[in-house]
Amino acid sequence: MSENPKHSLPSYLDAKHLGPWGVYLEQVERVTPYLGKLSKWVETLKRPKRALIVDVPVELDDGTIAHFEGYRVQHNTSRGPGKGGVRFHQDVTLSEVMALSAWMSVKAAAVNLPFGGAKGGVRLDPHNYSKAELERITRRYTSEIGVIIGPNKDIPAPDVNTNAQTMAWMMDTYSMNEGATATGVVTGKPISLGGSLGRVEATGRGVYVVGCEAARDAGIPINGARIVIQGFGNVGGTAARLFHDAGAKVIAVQDHTGSIHNANGLDIPAVQAYALEHDGIAGVANAEVIAPEDFWTLETELLIPAALESQINKDNADSIRAKVVIEGANGPTTPEADDILVSKGTLVVPDVLANAGGVTVSYFEWVQDFSSFFWNEAEINHRLEAIMRSAYSSVSAVAAEHKVSQRTAAFITACTRILEAREVRGLYP
Ligand code: GLU
Repeated sequence: MSENPKHSLPSYLDAKHLGPWGVYLEQVERVTPYLGKLSKWVETLKRPKRALIVDVPVELDDGTIAHFEGYRVQHNTSRGPGKGGVRFHQDVTLSEVMALSAWMSVKAAAVNLPFGGAKGGVRLDPHNYSKAELERITRRYTSEIGVIIGPNKDIPAPDVNTNAQTMAWMMDTYSMNEGATATGVVTGKPISLGGSLGRVEATGRGVYVVGCEAARDAGIPINGARIVIQGFGNVGGTAARLFHDAGAKVIAVQDHTGSIHNANGLDIPAVQAYALEHDGIAGVANAEVIAPEDFWTLETELLIPAALESQINKDNADSIRAKVVIEGANGPTTPEADDILVSKGTLVVPDVLANAGGVTVSYFEWVQDFSSFFWNEAEINHRLEAIMRSAYSSVSAVAAEHKVSQRTAAFITACTRILEAREVRGLYP
């Protein structure tokens, strides 16, 4: 629906500096000319369906009471229940969670999963709290958002700084409040609670699969290819290992503790073991320490941002010397940086496609929980790879047809699916 000037804009459409939500709105602007008659519904994509802010009061180990701010945003549920992770980070804001929820809607539709988009977050640095404190924070947060989540309504999952243990606490809290064990309320659970084999590695594996497809399109053999990775958590670490095992040279890695480089290729299994023990890569053997700004200028075949939003921006995009960028993180590239990379001929595989492996195996987990029938890991990886390859090839075909970037092509595919569902459902009442 077009804007009516008689009604005031919601605050999140009005502000000058919108952060990741502004990046998402710009991406929607860029896709609108390709939506044909469906553009009548495009306003739907610019507003989250529902956003909840909750107070999370918790008693800390020293007896004091702390209050945390938590969020759960359901961006769109036209194609199915909301789906998306929960992140714990000191910089989480409502507008960031809105953007992340919108990217989940686009991601689920881009790979054709029957989900809408949602996301949650709690504004805290989890490194400052004990395991017992994190359990109490997670449980109270879950109870507060319990009014809008559920196996058929909105299904959380792990994201930055949350993991299978966090999901176990969320599942238990929701189940206690419901009076029945509800395994399907979250995905990314431990295997003993109805989790899926292959879920932990799924996002990194998806990054690897589309990375190989994109490298092939760019004429780059994976054996011997140089790879630079920002972020060495679940996504970056798994992708690093899979590329390393395939014969690529991971020449640099950056995480919250520093940036390391070895022109001959880092010993990834050794870096992984070290990072696990020391909670970061700083101090690992056989690598030189480099300045964070030099990290972005390294000449490489593949660059994989797998950390937070807006890491590739107008300040560093020009100095990037990668042939292909595979977005393991959500929203790592700003629209200005996108334009700079396109003008340099860099192939960018967008987040909504490149990191969709996680939510794809979350979908498998949800299906397995509903049917109480569990698949083996080979079957899960096989199905994941088939979905990722087919999504990559249809997005590439749309990009070639319209002569647009893969990001705009992924948005054309996804937004068309979302708005077709929106239109055929019709407005209520
Ligand atoms: N947090 C992951 C993402 O950003 C996975 C979400 C999910 O599995 O629902 O895609």
